[in-house]
Parts: sequence; C-alpha cells; structure tokens
Amino acid sequence: MPNEYKKSDRLNNLSYAIRGPVFEKAQQLEAMGQKIINLNIGNPAPFGFDVPDEIVHDMILNLRNAQGYSHHLGIFPARKAIMHYTQQIGIKDVKMEDIFVGNGVSELIVMCMQALLNDGDEILIPSPDYPLWTTAVALSGGKPVHYMCDEASDWNPDVQDMESKITSKTKAIVIINPNNPTGAVYEKDVLKKIVALAEKHNLIVFSDEIYDKILYDGNVHVPAATLSEDVFFMTFGGLSKNYRAAGFRGGWVIPSGAKNKAKSFLEGLTLLASMRLCANVPTQYAIQTALGGYQSINDLVAEGGRLKKQRDLIYYKLTDIPGITCVKPKGSLYVFPKIDMKKFDIQNDEQFALDLLSEQKVFVVSGKGFNYNDGQHFRAVFLPEVDTLELATDKIAEFLDSRKIK
Ligand code: PLP
Repeated sequence: MPNEYKKSDRLNNLSYAIRGPVFEKAQQLEAMGQKIINLNIGNPAPFGFDVPDEIVHDMILNLRNAQGYSHHLGIFPARKAIMHYTQQIGIKDVKMEDIFVGNGVSELIVMCMQALLNDGDEILIPSPDYPLWTTAVALSGGKPVHYMCDEASDWNPDVQDMESKITSKTKAIVIINPNNPTGAVYEKDVLKKIVALAEKHNLIVFSDEIYDKILYDGNVHVPAATLSEDVFFMTFGGLSKNYRAAGFRGGWVIPSGAKNKAKSFLEGLTLLASMRLCANVPTQYAIQTALGGYQSINDLVAEGGRLKKQRDLIYYKLTDIPGITCVKPKGSLYVFPKIDMKKFDIQNDEQFALDLLSEQKVFVVSGKGFNYNDGQHFRAVFLPEVDTLELATDKIAEFLDSRKIK
C-alpha cells in the first residue's frame, strides 16, 4: 500500500506483553460474554483495594487549587513530603529542588531514558524485568542489555553476570526492588555489590522502588541510594501500588548521591519536564496526604492482612501442582512460577498463557513478556480475593493435568 502511514522504525521491535496479543484475546472472549479471571495486571483498585479515604478527601478538597498548570517539577507540598520521606528512609542530602513529580513512574522512566541516551548507549536491565524499562531504553535509541536474576538465589541479581555485561557503552544499571515480576526483595549484600560495581565503572543506578512498602514476613527493604554517596542514584516511587491509586497517575523520581556528576543529565530531564508542562495537578495534591497519613498498606501485608493471605494462598496452591515450582514472594504483588515443560505437551510459556486463557479463562502473562526467555515461566498477580485465586489455581492445575505427558 504506497500511501500507508507507517509507524516509526523505532517502534518496530517494541512490545508490551502485559497488554499484548493475549490481552487482546482476553478482550475478545470478554466481549463474547465469557468470564475471565484476570491475573495479568497489577492494578489494585478493581479488586476492591480502595485508595485510602483521606487521600481521596484531600484531593477533592484541593480540586479548585488544582485547576491550573503547576511548576514543572511538581507542587511545593508534594515535593516537600517526598523530601521528608527521603529523610525517613535514610537517603541523604536530597533537596526539594532535586525532586521530579510525574504522571506515574512510567512517564519518569521514559523521560529519564530520553534525557540520558544517545544511539547505541547501553543500559543494564534485569531479566526478568518490568518490560517498560526495556522498551523505554529502545525507544530512546539505547540498547537494553539484560543481566540475569537467579531463581536459585531467591531471584537476587547475578552480580557476576551483571559485571560481565558492562562495556564502554554502558551508562547505567536498573534495579527493581521489591521486584516485579519475581516478588524478590534484594539482600543488602547483593545491593552493596551492585553499588560497588556502579562506582567502579562510573554508572548511574536507576532504582525502581515503587513497591517499597509491600513487604511480607518481616522482610526489610533497603533503598539502594542509602548505600553510597559517591554513586549517582535515581530512586523511583509513586502512588500506584503502596496507595492503590494506579489510576491517579502519580509518581516521583529522586536524584541523590553524586549529583555533581549529573548536572547535564538533570538539566536535560528538567527540559523534558518543562516541555510537558507539569504532572496532573489534582494527583499531586494527594502525595503529601499519602506519604504523611496512616499507612494502611502495612495492615494489608501484615499477618492476617488481605494481601498476605492472598500471597500465601497462591504460593501454596501453585507449589502443590505437580510440575510447578515457585520462589515465595517476599514483596510486591506477583508470583513468577516455573513450569517443568518437559512433563507437559506445551510448547513454551507463550503457548501456555494463550491456551490457559482459551481453555480455562485464566489470564496470566508469559515469562517472555518480562524478557525472560527460558520458555518455562509465567507471572500471576495475587490481587484477587482468595476464593478467586483458589478457583484460578484449580483451573491451572486442571489445564496442566490435561496436558500431562503420560
Ligand atoms: N515500575 C514497576 C516495577 C511497576 O511494576 C510498575 C507498574 O506496574 C511501574 C513502574 C509503573 O508505575 P506507575 O503506575 O507509577 O506508572
């Protein structure tokens, strides 16, 4: 077709499996009146996890104040509250002027990559990853280079593999902690090694800590930026998960550590922030209340809390299924189980996700969707109530049983 309007070449190899072909299939099935059990996306509110009333109340109260554009970095009370949060968690020397408020962490990830990368620059990204990191790097002309996370070590990053992939073009290391999709919470020793590597090779650390309060069994989260003042860190956080406000689109990024080395990059990021004028302002009015108010997330993850019960149920039910093994999630909202494919008549993880959806109406995402290419993993979200999770895991067991090689 000579007159076709074609997408840019930059988009040619990009995909986003969480909303990819299996997602479209799920939508088709739903349009035909089928009921799907959605274990595909970490969106808390539709599963009855309401945003705390106090946050909604303060947003409504401030709507009139939120009619105009704000400062491109964000409104004063939001950035002040984020600065206070850095003091609570031990990130040193962060000033209000350092902080960027955005339309969710997603926007800030893309902006950071666009501000940093020249064509061919390399960024180290975990495998498995949260796939936006990979697409944002590629979209910005960079080359995503994946380092392995080790299932046998509770999905902690394999620091040796990370080091072996550093080249003269490497600009930064991305870590996601607590992790999506594995549920890992990284050990302090591992983080220290990563930070030492960043210092040795003069790399930025982008630390995506959007799940920093979603921790089970007393596991402790160590913010990477607390481990050195000689490395430049960008720490990401937001409202979508800890405060269940994914639809509000509120997030932030906190530069810290060796900021003196990052003046030009931060100038670029400020330019991009000003070009999009500001993050949506009503949501910015929720940030101070969220960070300063009652932290109801702690009740949800505590013993007897709803998220903890759901994490326990899905973990025990999945590991009961012959042919499935799974590392118990220490944090976040996900499990990343392994299927021993040689026991089943299933080609790979993608076919598993597609056939499970078609036959049992359970929607999970293949490991490949998270740039993990062994063909044997999938991610399931444990946001639905225990009854639904019980039903979903029974259906997964039934599906695998029907494909068992006799
Ligand atoms: N980072 C990670 C690791 C995530 O899992 C998600 C969403 O699932 C995001 C970032 C995007 O967050 P936001 O809603 O703030 O854009």
